[in-house]
Formats: sequence, structure tokens, C-alpha cells
Amino acid sequence: TAEGSGGGTEQAYRVDERAAELARWEEASKDTIQKTTKPCPRCHVPVEKNGGCMHMKCPQSQCRLEWCWHCGCEWNRTCMGDHWFDV
Ligand SMILES: [Zn+2]
Ligand SMILES: [Zn+2]
Repeated sequence: TAEGSGGGTEQAYRVDERAAELARWEEASKDTIQKTTKPCPRCHVPVEKNGGCMHMKCPQSQCRLEWCWHCGCEWNRTCMGDHWFDV
């Protein structure tokens, strides 16, 4: 029978499908990361946004900068008054 070669073709097709699916998934997760993380304005380490709060704190022990997600700069009184929470 030609089962061997036929099976091979089908398998190759399935691998392509899987690769395409994986690529789509990676694209989607990259999108999510871009929406939920921003680099710290001082040390540029990616920091994940926590809920609707604009007040960010750098997780790096040597930095610990408190900064504003909205402005992308150090946390200040304007941020506290104007956009502490994302509405
Ligand atoms: Zn930092
Ligand atoms: Zn701000």
C-alpha cells in the first residue's frame, strides 16, 4: 500500500498547522505583554501593570522607582490627583 508516503504528507501538513497556530498564539501573547507591561523609566526593566492603578513600582531592588504608567515618568502629585486610577 501507499500508506507510508500518504501518512508522511498528512503529518507534514499537521506540523504546519501546529506551527501556524503557535505563531498566532505567540503574536497574541506578545500583544498582551505590550498592553500590560511597560519598561521602568529609570532601569527599563519590564513592569507589569497591576489592575487599574496607574501607580507603578519597579521590582528591581537596586531601582524601586515609583512611577506613573500614564505619564511614563516618576510618580508625582499631578498623577496622584489626575489619574491614580484608570477609568
Ligand atoms: Zn526600575
Ligand atoms: Zn501620571
